[in-house]
Amino acid sequence: MFANLLPPQVHVFVRDWLSANHVLLKSRDGHVLIDSGYVRHAPLTLALLDSARGLAGEPLAKLVNTHGHSDHIGGNAAVARKYGCPIAVPQGEARAFDEWDQRVLLLDYAGQRADRFTVDEVIPPGASNVWGDLEWQALAAPGHDMGALVFWNPEHRILISGDALWQHGFGLVLPRELDPAALPATRATLDAIAALDARVVIPGHGEPFTDVAAALERAYARLAAFETDSVRVARYVAKALLSFTLLDVRRMSLTELPAHFADVGIYRDLNAAVFRMPPADMAALIVGELERAGAIRRDGGFLVTA
Ligand SMILES: [Zn+2]
Repeated sequence: MFANLLPPQVHVFVRDWLSANHVLLKSRDGHVLIDSGYVRHAPLTLALLDSARGLAGEPLAKLVNTHGHSDHIGGNAAVARKYGCPIAVPQGEARAFDEWDQRVLLLDYAGQRADRFTVDEVIPPGASNVWGDLEWQALAAPGHDMGALVFWNPEHRILISGDALWQHGFGLVLPRELDPAALPATRATLDAIAALDARVVIPGHGEPFTDVAAALERAYARLAAFETDSVRVARYVAKALLSFTLLDVRRMSLTELPAHFADVGIYRDLNAAVFRMPPADMAALIVGELERAGAIRRDGGFLVTA
C-alpha cells in the first residue's frame, strides 16, 4: 500500500468525504498533526490519533491546517482540548478564524458546522517548517480556498495537497460570478504544483498517490471545462455541498429541500448569479443529477446517500 511510499515518520490516516485525511508527522522533537476532520466525527479522530498507529499515548506538539474548511478544521477544538497543543493556520485564513467568518469558512453559509477554536500561530506562504524531522515548505495554493497552503518536502518530493489536488480532481471552486479570482487562482496553483514534480501526493481526501502527472491532467481538464461554463461550475458546487450535507445529517426531507436551497446562503447566491430559477427547480436539477450519478437515492419522503 502507500505506507512504503513515505518515510517512516509520515503517517496518513485516510478518512472519507465528510472528514479530510490526517497526516501525522512524528518526531522526538514533538509530533505534528495536519488537519482534524469534520466535527461530527471528532470522537473517531481522537480515537485514531490515540491509537497504536497514532500517538499511542504520547503528546501532540502542534495541530496545523491546510485550509479553513469544515472537513479539515472540525476536530480542531476537540484535539486542542485533549492535547493542549497550539493550532497553526495559514496566514490567509487567520482573520476568517478570528472573526469566525461563516461565509469565508463555508460554515452556515454552506450548511456546514465546526466547533470554534483559537488560533495560536499563523503560517505565511514561503515559510519553512521542520515537522517529523522533515522540512516542509508552505506554498500558497489559492483557488478552492483562497487562503489555502500546501506543504512540500523537497527531499522526498512529497506534497501534502489538502484540497488543491486530488487523484481525481480538486475541491469545489466558486464560479466567476461569485468569486472572479477563484478559477484563475486554481490554474496558477495547478501550474505551481506541476512545477514541483512531486513523487507522492498526500491529498486531503483519498489515498496518497504517485501518478501525479495523470492527476494533473485530469485536474486541468476539469478546470478547462469549468473555465468555459459557469453553470457547470455551479452545478458541481451545489452537488458537492448537498452530498456533503447528506453525509452530515444522514437524511433530508424532500418536501423541505426547496426551502433548504432558498435558505442556505451559497445556494441562494449560486441561484441568483447563475441558475436563476425557482429554488424548487434548482433542487430538482441538483437532486436529479446526483440520483442519476448514483450518489444519492430516495427513501420514502427522504433523500439519503446511496
Ligand atoms: Zn476544502
